[in-house]
Amino acid sequence: MATVAKAAPQPIPRIAPREDLNPYRIAQIQFDIAAEYLKLDPGLRQILRTPKRILEVSVPTKMDNGQIKVFTGFRVQHNIARGPAKGGIRYHPAVTLDEVKALATWMTWKTATVNIPFGGGKGGVICDPKRMSKPELERMTRRFASEIFPIIGPDQDIPAPDVYTDSQTMAWIMDTYSMTKGRTSLGVVTGKPISIGGSEGRHEATARGCLVAVEEACKVKKMSLRGATVAIQGFGNAGSIAARLFAEKKARVVAISDSRGGVFNSRGIDPMKAARYKERSGTVVGMPGTSRISNDDLLTMKCDILIPAALENVITLNNADQIKAKIVAEAANGPTTPHADEVLARKGVTMIPDILANAGGVTVSYFEWVQDLQSFFWSEGEVNAKLELVMRRAFHEVHETARKHRTHMRTGAYVLAVGRVADATLVRGLFP
Ligand code: GLU
Repeated sequence: MATVAKAAPQPIPRIAPREDLNPYRIAQIQFDIAAEYLKLDPGLRQILRTPKRILEVSVPTKMDNGQIKVFTGFRVQHNIARGPAKGGIRYHPAVTLDEVKALATWMTWKTATVNIPFGGGKGGVICDPKRMSKPELERMTRRFASEIFPIIGPDQDIPAPDVYTDSQTMAWIMDTYSMTKGRTSLGVVTGKPISIGGSEGRHEATARGCLVAVEEACKVKKMSLRGATVAIQGFGNAGSIAARLFAEKKARVVAISDSRGGVFNSRGIDPMKAARYKERSGTVVGMPGTSRISNDDLLTMKCDILIPAALENVITLNNADQIKAKIVAEAANGPTTPHADEVLARKGVTMIPDILANAGGVTVSYFEWVQDLQSFFWSEGEVNAKLELVMRRAFHEVHETARKHRTHMRTGAYVLAVGRVADATLVRGLFP
């Protein structure tokens, strides 16, 4: 790659002394560090560190009581140098434009890290889906899809599930888009139900990719995954399936949690029982045979592998020096701040950064999109085998880049990813 510096490692740019928890500023700090390693031209830096396109929409929705509520939604396309924008849609009361800009930016680096031909995008709606009925969610989703219709499409920008959205959400978006176009468009979203062009293996892909990355990290650290203790923060799509897949590999899942708190058992928690319990009770808290643990204590408890699988900024300067895990694998986006990264690196913790650790989701989204465009579908075995290849190769490319630049895996991944996007931008040239 022409843009990767071959000289000695660069000093890490100074991070401001006070920790900033704004996710977009964090995304820019992470980018700036890589840009420094790559000695990127200042103009190119400006292009790559800001989103290409931002759309804010108002989403009027009829609620079940007959009243209209107007939600605010966003779709951000950070970069499309290597292919269409790609990334999920999040429903959460704490969504902000800066968060969506950060998440879109991270998608650009994520698709480049695993080398799939997409750019980065993200969407979000400020709402509390836990307090909305299914018909309310459907009406809000369809109106949001209609509002972002002008900028999405199979060769333009392809949404997918993220926090508190799922395959049903994607089905509504696919239908709204298709009805507006007057023809069925399978490739406009990924993470769909199998019956309408979804891919085998997509539902599990984020967790499976995370498992493969951890397996590779264990090999590098000469550590056995079998018998290793695992703590998982967050029990949504990524966290709950990770718990099951790690347990299948005979790792011991000693703690899990959700937004209401966590549970702990040093002899191990059965992830299937936990999922059934959460299905019934709405939380893992109170699961028989476990003791209660807070989300904060889960993060700093003694364990071999820590998997943050919920939201941003959970590993910060406040708790980084208390983390005891040997490996941290970020199934969530943005769980660790740049300051905390430095603390963990000094402690010798192996950090598998989000743009690698959770890239299995978007990788199988890419497979889903390819299958949709070809109308030719693969078996689960084929999907998983291809996913493993992508993840193992990406892990070692990141590890090697980090080693070469004598830095940690986050910066290794950024140097690799930013270098790829910079190369694509340079070779295309600036329009007009
Ligand atoms: N929301 C997931 C992520 O953050 C998946 C994105 C996708 O499949 O496009 O990576």
